[in-house]
Amino acid sequence: MTPRGWAVLTLGGLVLALLVASVVLVPWSRPPAPRADQVAALGELPVDQVAHAREFRSALRPGAYGALVVGLLVALLLGLTPVGARLVELAGRPFGGHWTARAVLGGLAVVLLADLLTLPFAAWRQSVLTRYGLSTHGWSGWAVDLLKSYAVSAVIGAIALLGFYTVTRLAPRWWWAFGAAGAAGLVVLLSFVLPVLVEPVFNRFTPMEQGPLRTELMAMAARDGVPVRDVLVADASRRTKAVNAYVSGLGPTRRVVVYDTLLREATPAEVTSVVAHELGHAKDRDVWTGTLTGALGAALAVVALYLLGSWGPLLRLAGVDSVAEPRAFPLLIALVTVAGLVAAPAQALVSRRVEARADAHALALTGDPATFEAMQRRLAGVNLADPDPPRWEYLWSASHPSTVERMAAARAYAREAGR
Ligand SMILES: [Zn+2]
Repeated sequence: MTPRGWAVLTLGGLVLALLVASVVLVPWSRPPAPRADQVAALGELPVDQVAHAREFRSALRPGAYGALVVGLLVALLLGLTPVGARLVELAGRPFGGHWTARAVLGGLAVVLLADLLTLPFAAWRQSVLTRYGLSTHGWSGWAVDLLKSYAVSAVIGAIALLGFYTVTRLAPRWWWAFGAAGAAGLVVLLSFVLPVLVEPVFNRFTPMEQGPLRTELMAMAARDGVPVRDVLVADASRRTKAVNAYVSGLGPTRRVVVYDTLLREATPAEVTSVVAHELGHAKDRDVWTGTLTGALGAALAVVALYLLGSWGPLLRLAGVDSVAEPRAFPLLIALVTVAGLVAAPAQALVSRRVEARADAHALALTGDPATFEAMQRRLAGVNLADPDPPRWEYLWSASHPSTVERMAAARAYAREAGR
């Protein structure tokens, strides 16, 4: 069988594996959140709070969708015309067009150009956040964060680009197989190292101070059968007023992180409710699930790019001979951008299901739906979330159930548990 035949077979296998993983690992059965409860919950939220949140979300929208459209247009312009290939050549020229310069500098130049052209929209977003009082770090802090994220992306990008184009050179017929394995491996590696190598670039993490709250949280984790070494507090207040918590890392790097803003804004019982949700993610191995599906998706993308990239008309549009050369990198970016837009609603759906399961876990673990609901109300209030967002936006991009869905889930739990 030819390499191309093997690639088609591998693609089929990866699609199947991704389908099986999503059927087995994603909690498709819906936790109860009756619409009547949602409507009742919405009716009980302060009218001016809801109006203010909706005004804020509307103010963000033009920038968000502007960035999306411009990002797509730039990717298509660079990838589906010879402009991108010429940019890669240009970046390699000071180094005599050496392939490593084209691969790394050319690749980074393409990404940087797209970032710069969408920069005005990022600034728009920051100005809206400042106007509504959510951002606390000012323009200089914002710029520093931006430069740090460019630097982190450049390091990870350079490693990926150099690795990828080394493989396409060493194995011109089988690069897709090594590339797929390498992409999957990179996803797993990043899951392990992001919390210890990248997150500290943006925030300082300190163990939660000794006291009744910490004791209560550790006891709850023990009761839940989730070994937690520590609960870390992130100094999120340096850039935002928003409250949040999350779990990241795998095995030895796994941690539960709460924002210092959460400790400041919420009652200890509400913090407990939030951490119970995060323990749900840990207990159900949601980081593993995300990592596994991410790794399968990355491998699938590499094989699909190889197969699509042997399509003559596409190569002619991009003005390249082969998809495996650095000059074709803009074409790869264009294809990945389009695929990302198409996959976004499916990713959001999976994320919402996983989040709803963590909510159900928090309710069962604390047995305290009233506090859970109060916490949801506070989250929406502080973060200026639209408690019941427009349907299309929810389906397109919501990573969590809406506030009224989460409140309704608490009410359904309370009814069932007779509390
Ligand atoms: Zn969550």
